[in-house]
Amino acid sequence: MERILAIDDNRDNLISLRAIIKDAFPDAYIDTALNGTDGIRLAKEKDPDVILLDILMPEIDGFEVCRQLKQDSYLRDIPVVFLTAIKQNKESRIEALEVGAEAFLSKPIDVPELTAQIRAMIKIKESNKQKRDEKEHLALLVAERTHELEKSHSEMLKLVEELKSSEMRYRRLFESATDGILIINPETEEIIDANQFLIDLLGYSHDYLIGRKFWDVGALMNVLACRVAFAKLKKKGYTRLDDLQIKSFNGKIIHVELVSNIYFADKVKVVQCNIRDISARKKAEEQVWTLGKAIEQGPSSIIITNQKGEIEFVNKKFISNTQYHFKEVKGKYPRIFNPGHLSEKNYEDLWKKIQKGITWRGEVQNRRKDKTMYWEDTIISALINPENNTICNYVLIMNDMTEKKQMLDDLIAAKEKAEESDRLKSAFLANISHEIRTPLNCIIGFSDLLLDPKFDTDKKVEFAQMINSSGTNMLSMINDILDISKIEAGQLAIKNDVFSVNRLVSNVQKEYSYKAAEKGLTLGLDFLSPTKEIYINSDASKLKQILVNLVANAIKFSKDGHIEIGFKAKENVLEFHVKDAGIGIPKEYHEKIFDRFRQVESDYTREYGGNGLGLAISKSIVEMLGGKIWLDSEVGLGSVFYFTIPG
Ligand code: ADP
Repeated sequence: MERILAIDDNRDNLISLRAIIKDAFPDAYIDTALNGTDGIRLAKEKDPDVILLDILMPEIDGFEVCRQLKQDSYLRDIPVVFLTAIKQNKESRIEALEVGAEAFLSKPIDVPELTAQIRAMIKIKESNKQKRDEKEHLALLVAERTHELEKSHSEMLKLVEELKSSEMRYRRLFESATDGILIINPETEEIIDANQFLIDLLGYSHDYLIGRKFWDVGALMNVLACRVAFAKLKKKGYTRLDDLQIKSFNGKIIHVELVSNIYFADKVKVVQCNIRDISARKKAEEQVWTLGKAIEQGPSSIIITNQKGEIEFVNKKFISNTQYHFKEVKGKYPRIFNPGHLSEKNYEDLWKKIQKGITWRGEVQNRRKDKTMYWEDTIISALINPENNTICNYVLIMNDMTEKKQMLDDLIAAKEKAEESDRLKSAFLANISHEIRTPLNCIIGFSDLLLDPKFDTDKKVEFAQMINSSGTNMLSMINDILDISKIEAGQLAIKNDVFSVNRLVSNVQKEYSYKAAEKGLTLGLDFLSPTKEIYINSDASKLKQILVNLVANAIKFSKDGHIEIGFKAKENVLEFHVKDAGIGIPKEYHEKIFDRFRQVESDYTREYGGNGLGLAISKSIVEMLGGKIWLDSEVGLGSVFYFTIPG
């Protein structure tokens, strides 16, 4: 729809113009203004397709209005048609064109001319508008394109920079890498590049390596393995050899780990081999392995704890010694094996010491799972982490010293025994001298009396009896000493005979009942002893010696009462006993009195005499005959000595 603006200070002119235009363009919008200022405002507001402008107007004339319209970039394209009453005025026409008007019509208005002019102007406006739109569009396109170009240019520049720096970075990495790097052409299999580390490692120059196949370099110990790996690499794009041995130019064998990849570099396939020297690692691993084995299989029990003292490791020896499995002791404190042997205070001292990094050493009694106890020589020390100088673990090394301790205990016991034996021997010597001197003095004294011319012959028998009894005592003493010497030398012979036990026991009873009677004692046979004759094959004289020894002791150590001698047939054995109501023997002596020279009474209170050999001899003989000897006794009540011999 057309839109026409008419500016004229004459209202009538405007009315007639509206009528003319309405007639020619019935659908057109028509705006009118009575002065230039309103006209310009309306032009801005309505954007008309053409402006019909009167020249002569008060305030601002048409030329000025046109000038202002044409100076405005927004209004500039609206065609302006001047309408003037001044016909043929050449100057006005020229000025109108100079200020930018598109057409000039003279009044009175020629309607067809005006209509044609308006149509032409509308076309001009349209074409102007089109041109302007196109121009604007073009300008926009140019701006956009320029912006894009600028952007892509700066991106390109950035990319080039990045490429440059990435290449530099790669180079730097390549050259400064602490692994050997080899770049190989996968098609020709030739080396394209090698970094400095690899050159130093192999000892071959860069020039020597470049263009050569890796297996032709002379560094590979196992060319075949390498070629197989290369074939795999070409197929899978990746290969790894964990322990490859290579030989440097100087002949040094180096263990390396080789990892190879195929990748594209600038659309060209390349192989990158990373070669890591693992010789030091291998050596360290071997050392760790050896140390591990030494710890694991060593002869000492080893526990390793964390810094809190919780068990983290135990070795085989520990497991076999304590019978605990690792999972039973993991996370526990080693103290569980040491039930109370180390006091709380000692334990605290130990901790304080080892926490200061001081090694602790001591003998510790520990307990196995089965609750048996054992002694261990134990060393506990802290392991220091060199990186931060703090304690990271504690190590306990323990050596079983149960045997050593036993040996020590045995040695101490042997020493004590030797000292005791020495003491006993001294006492024995003192006894012996007393026991020999007494009967000898008696013999010499009474024989002197017998030789005395003033001797009272009535006493001859009594004296002879005294001499005889002393001689008998001495003989028995000498026999004892001879017997014990023979026993010690292993020369006491046993002679076997078949004899009647009943008779032997009854003989002893008869022989010694006189002796007993002398002391006011009675000696009788146990009425429970078998009455049926029992014969055995044994050494009758030795059996008698034992019985005599026991009966003689019973008489010696009794002040009054009855002494009983008897025997019983038990399964496979005959059990003999001699019972008295004498002084009795304290419990702690029940075993000791069978030792040589051992007597209950001390040297100073000697009342009963004797040499302390009788029971030792009896015990040895009983054992030689295949039996055993023991006793039952209570101080003040008496004693029963028992012994067996095979029946
Ligand atoms: P001896 O009798 O010569 O001292 P023994 O070897 O026969 O040596 O006895 C050792 C010790 O045993 C005796 O000294 C005595 O202390 C004690 N003894 C042995 N028999 C008896 C007994 N029947 N009653 C009390 N003590 C006895």
